[in-house]
Amino acid sequence: MPKFRGLTTRLCPSCGRAEAHRTLYVKTESHYKSTWLRIFWACTTCNQLNHVIQPIYRLQFALMDSPSLLVSCVTDALNEKPLDLDELVQNLREHYANDFEILSSEVALALEYLKARGAVKEEGVDRTERTLATLRARSAWSSHLSPCPAEAKRGIVSRGLVSLYAQHRLQVEMLGERTRMGQLRLAPVGVYCIQCGFHHVDPDLLV
Ligand SMILES: [Zn+2]
Ligand SMILES: [Zn+2]
Repeated sequence: MPKFRGLTTRLCPSCGRAEAHRTLYVKTESHYKSTWLRIFWACTTCNQLNHVIQPIYRLQFALMDSPSLLVSCVTDALNEKPLDLDELVQNLREHYANDFEILSSEVALALEYLKARGAVKEEGVDRTERTLATLRARSAWSSHLSPCPAEAKRGIVSRGLVSLYAQHRLQVEMLGERTRMGQLRLAPVGVYCIQCGFHHVDPDLLV
């Protein structure tokens, strides 16, 4: 995995330390199937729920001469629309699977090359906001929501509470971060209200 990836998401804005983090997921429905969405990353030092900021890459201009075929392919792909690294790798594999092997480490290097020359700009996109917007849009019919205790105390009846899940520690160590979503073994670690932000996470389950 390229070193620069995820760095911004690991420096905890709450305690200011670059610490180990746990990615938290929520379960939701998409086309009548349950799917997992990354929603926060939790700092294992202060337990703060932090937003997932993922870089996307936007093409500024095409270089006059490309040092490699891969750099040209990356330029072409980003010329259509900005993509994050995973989307870019996926896009290249779809288009060039028969021509050459697409390794994400090499795509990351191609991006570094383009970034260093100003041809590509890296922008942070708040994935947590996107995920929350998705959950709120589905909240009318989602079966994964339950009443929020914080709002119930104030006499408000709402259904905004989602369960937060994290990978089993053993699983994380065995399979690493590249684990495909389909292989995730997730266990509940807490709750979060998509309406008012109330949350509770069991610190013992995070470390
Ligand atoms: Zn922290
Ligand atoms: Zn609430």
